[in-house]
Amino acid sequence: MTGAPSLFTMLDQGPSAPAVLPWDYVRMRRQAAGRSIEQAARPYWHRPEHQADVERNFRMFESVGFRLERGFYVVDMSRSHPLDIDIYRQLCTGDPRRHPRLCMACGWDPLTQSFDRYGDDVVWSAIDPGICTACEQEGRPRFEPRPDEFHPASTIRPQRAVTT
Ligand SMILES: [Zn+2]
Repeated sequence: MTGAPSLFTMLDQGPSAPAVLPWDYVRMRRQAAGRSIEQAARPYWHRPEHQADVERNFRMFESVGFRLERGFYVVDMSRSHPLDIDIYRQLCTGDPRRHPRLCMACGWDPLTQSFDRYGDDVVWSAIDPGICTACEQEGRPRFEPRPDEFHPASTIRPQRAVTT
């Protein structure tokens, strides 16, 4: 038989495993903490004239295509919400097939200690192993990965450095 694609051919061309990209990770961690960009940025400026710059930098980290360049930036969001800088760097520079396993709703990873609404340690959900127990309790929606064709191949280069 020729001309018709076989099932195996279609499977070979199927979507790859969902990848959380750096800008998704930053947004998921912020949203899981229930903070807007303005709220997340607030601990990082002290003079009103700096507010717009700091908020612009926070938006930049969530811009599709923005990746940290080695040694170029300091990403410290710990004054606002937990974000693992090593995971962030790995998402920026590592092979997506080797990315760490993250909660597909909030970006939590098992090395980050968090507590759920009952004060218990957050672990992987037994009901949905793609998410953590905190997200299961909150009914937080799962992250929707973009198809590969919408992953930008190049890195957006920012105009100014972030200082904290
Ligand atoms: Zn989660």
